[in-house]
Amino acid sequence: MSDDENAFGISITLLLPAGRLPLDMMQAAHNLAEQYGFGIYLSLTQNMRLINVPESAVSHVKETLAALGANFKGPGKFPLPRICVGKPHCNLGLVDTEELSRKILERFGGREKTKAKFKISLAACPIGCAGTKLTDISVMASRAGYNVYVGGKGGPIPQIAMRIKAKVTEEEVLDTIETLVDFHDLKTKSKKRMVKLLKEPDFPFAAV
Ligand code: SF4
Repeated sequence: MSDDENAFGISITLLLPAGRLPLDMMQAAHNLAEQYGFGIYLSLTQNMRLINVPESAVSHVKETLAALGANFKGPGKFPLPRICVGKPHCNLGLVDTEELSRKILERFGGREKTKAKFKISLAACPIGCAGTKLTDISVMASRAGYNVYVGGKGGPIPQIAMRIKAKVTEEEVLDTIETLVDFHDLKTKSKKRMVKLLKEPDFPFAAV
């Protein structure tokens, strides 16, 4: 079972592309939480985590939500981009981040080798509300085009990402992500972060 278990019960995480929670899934999660007395946590990666689910309820909870199209966190799932709300919901937004996230998942979502801890973030303007520059791959829109950064991370020793593309098109963003994900998949057997690969002699990009 891929669900996390601790002394209080089991956690089940529903992956929510672009942080969108369908109303029927929200309603079902609410009803199940009332029925079984568990909690709901909206995670920092924009997913929905059901916490302290009684073991006896896990099958029913998962079956009920799966019937509504829920996709559960687990090995072999390409990480969902974390996004800012973007255009048209923020008045500074230059691009529709939900749409860009959808294109990324359409192109890479079927991959099973990419580590679940690998993080991609998308921001619709240079303010970077999605925690851009602190993730393995960061994409930030600007008035002149997209900037792409690589090698950021948070944690106890944060690292600001290095810019490798400036003022590029959306197609170039997708191609750059493909090159980086291929490189990471090839070089990484464990959860190694992208920052550890920047000094590899064949790393495919330089700072710009
Ligand atoms: S990054 Fe820019 S567009 Fe996105 S939410 Fe923040 S201010 Fe708005």
